[in-house]
Parts: sequence; structure tokens; C-alpha cells
Amino acid sequence: MKNEPGDVFDAAQSQIKKIAGILNLPENILSQLLEPQRILEVSIPVRMDDGKIKLFKGYRSQFNDARGPFKGGIRFHEEVTREEVKALSAWMTWKTAVVNIPLGGGKGGVVVDPKKLSDRELEELSRGYLRAVSDFVGPDIDIPAPDAGTDPRIMGWMLDEYEKIMRRHIPGVITGKPLSIGGSAGRSYSTAQGGFYALLAAMKKVGLPTGATVAIQGFGNAGYNMAKILERAGYKIVSVSDSHGTATDCKNGLPVETLMQYKMKTGSVANYPGAEGSKELSCMEQDADILIPAALENSIHADNAELIKAKIILELANGPITPEADEILKQKGVLIIPDILANAGGVTVSYFEQVQNAYGYYWKEEEVLEKLEEVMTRSFEDVWMKKEEYKTDLRTGAYILAFSRVAQAMRDRGMV
Ligand code: NAD
Repeated sequence: MKNEPGDVFDAAQSQIKKIAGILNLPENILSQLLEPQRILEVSIPVRMDDGKIKLFKGYRSQFNDARGPFKGGIRFHEEVTREEVKALSAWMTWKTAVVNIPLGGGKGGVVVDPKKLSDRELEELSRGYLRAVSDFVGPDIDIPAPDAGTDPRIMGWMLDEYEKIMRRHIPGVITGKPLSIGGSAGRSYSTAQGGFYALLAAMKKVGLPTGATVAIQGFGNAGYNMAKILERAGYKIVSVSDSHGTATDCKNGLPVETLMQYKMKTGSVANYPGAEGSKELSCMEQDADILIPAALENSIHADNAELIKAKIILELANGPITPEADEILKQKGVLIIPDILANAGGVTVSYFEQVQNAYGYYWKEEEVLEKLEEVMTRSFEDVWMKKEEYKTDLRTGAYILAFSRVAQAMRDRGMV
């Protein structure tokens, strides 16, 4: 289902109004939560390999920094829009508040299909984006990170560009960097690892046994790492999809590493040999206990929500369920672990990365994971308590928790 531009930010604003209503927030706070504090729109010229200059459109939305510097990834995708970046920056604000780290929310994006660029063009675009926003980022202003379509290599180029402009080392300006230049151990799979801790906490609440069956939509950074972690923990991955198709094996489960090697060779998980199962069904509709959307927004909508059989949905992607689908799933009794909690492991380890950069002292991987588990388990419990207190669902509970914290910071700053 293709979204109209604006849909996704309209949905974010409706959510904001709904929660402000539940919490009875004054108009002075609500009005400041409906739009980003600042949004930059930039044009980035790149000399393409054929010698021609091509202009790429980029955005950085700085939604709210009442609790600390803006924080959020940069997405490289051909369908990036201003409205999408605004919505993602709002979600980052709630996400950092749910896990209670001292950061606000921001997000960036460039309208580009990075797969269509050569390495040289991609590097020029990445450096050009950073130059265009360089006056507005910094370790205590706004700290970018990777998102869909960007990775540690791109973060490395961006860090290098920023440090060249500033003429000194400032590793804390960007997170998700390669380990050799100030990245954190565990950051590369932290979104999935954090999601795993949240899932374990949820499974305890509903009494699902370890080893349940799982379907995952999206086989990129978040989806692939999640599949690996779950397989190692004894879960059966029955279905995986990417933008080209689906691989399903309900009987034996899919071998994650072999599937990734197949994808690297062919460009997709589609037509994976040996897979057997309900081939005519999409990944969403498979008979799996747990469904993990790990691709893009609005992939679960009014037309497919009814067909979902999972008991738990873990939203590793941002905004994968439309409000209509959310209602349908609630009626069906599906437990949804909302994005602002489920995928907060990435930003939490980004925060750990910044802390390590500030100290110039780096933790072992086990130490990072131990701290991440503590944050995710505590945050899940905090959200669960709000859900019980307000007799509502986990998503509303998470938003109530986040809004209370952001509103408190705004009050304490005298912003009302
Ligand atoms: P990625 O680009 O590495 O992977 C995205 C995957 O989704 C790819 O496998 C792609 O083929 C697949 N995909 C795209 N359209 C699809 C479709 N219609 N059906 C099935 N699969 C489809 O991106 P990522 O970093 O894994 O991010 C995925 C989601 O997780 C995004 O919503 C992102 O905002 C969210 N997220 C990622 C992180 C992170 O640390 N990577 C952190 C928080 C949230």
C-alpha cells in the first residue's frame, strides 16, 4: 500500500494529540509538540561518474531537544520525503524518552537509491550531506547515526568530513561509526539485540515458550541481525522477506546464515532453494507465533492486518503498522511491542557510544550488552506499568511514559 505524502506525519500528529488529551497536557505544550523545532532542507551537488553534476535533496528535522541534544539516524532512500523525516524525528523524541536517555529527537534523510551510486558517488553524497548540515550538528547539538540505506562506512565518511571542517577530533558528533574510529562494541546489531530483550520480557508476560516460530519482514541490518539472534536462542525462523520476495520454510525453519549468503549472491531471499511452506502467502500471513516487521513504514495496513496469525508483533521498523491496522490487531488480541520501545536498542547503544567517546575509554562487548539489557528490561517494565495504570495497550503506555518525560523537561525549562 503506497502512502500519500503527509500521511505518515499526519498519523504522528494524531498520535500526539491523542496522548496529550489522555495526559491533559496544556495547549502551550501541545502546540510545541506538533511541529519540529527546526527543519533543514538542503540540495547536495554530486559530480557523477559521467562528469555531470546531479543535485540530491536532503533533510534534517530537529523535533525536540528539551531532554538533550537532538538524536536520530540518516536515511538514504528514494522515497524519503520531508513529511516522513518529520514523523521519524518525532518518533525519535518519544524513543529516547521511553528508554530515559538524556537526548531529544531528530532525523535526516536523502532522496536517493544508494544502490544505484558508485562507491565514489556515495562517498561524495555522504560528505556533501554532512557539509550541508554541519552548522547544525555537534555532540551537544544534534548527533546523527545510521538508518535504512546508511551504514558505518557512511558514518565514517561523515565523521571525517565534520572533523576536517572543525579541524579537530570530535568523534561524539556521529554514532554507528566503525570501531576503528570510535564506534561502540555491539552497536552494529544493537537494534536487534534490544528488540530481543524486549521480546523476552513480553514473552514472559504472555507465557509464550522459548523456541516459538518467527516471521521477519525485511532482511537488512535490523531484520538479519534479529534472525541471527533468535536462531541462536533456539527460535525457528519460518519466513523472511525483502523488497524482492519471500523465503518460507515452516517445516524446518530457514538457516539464517545460508539464507544471507544466498541473498548476497542473488540480491534477494526470493526463490531460496529448498524452502518449503505456504509459498503463496506473504511473510506477514505465515503461521508464526511472532511477527517482526523490520522494513519500512505502514507495511501492516487495513488490507492485510486481518490475515495476520501472530500472537506477538515486535516493531523493529519505525511505524510499520497504520492506525487502522493497529485497531484491527488490538481487536484480535495481538500483543504489539511498539517501535519506540522495540527498536530503541539502537539509539541506546548510540548513547553508550557517545559516552565512551566523551571519556575516550571503551567498554567490552559484554559490558555494552549487560547495560543494554538493563535499559531494555527496565523500559519494558516501565511501559507495562503505564499500560496497566491507564488500562490501555503497550503503544499508548509507551507514549504516555514518553510524553510525561518530555513535558516535564519542557516545564522545567520554563517552555510553557
Ligand atoms: P536496511 O536498509 O538495512 O534493510 C531494510 C530491509 O527491508 C531490506 O532487506 C529491504 O529489502 C527490506 N524491504 C524494503 N521494502 C520491503 C518490502 N516492501 N517488503 C519486504 N521487505 C522490504 O534498513 P534497517 O537499518 O534494517 O532498517 C529497517 C527498519 O528498522 C527501518 O524502519 C528503520 O527505521 C528501523 N530501525 C533501524 C535501526 C538500525 O539500527 N538499523 C534502528 C532503529 C530502527
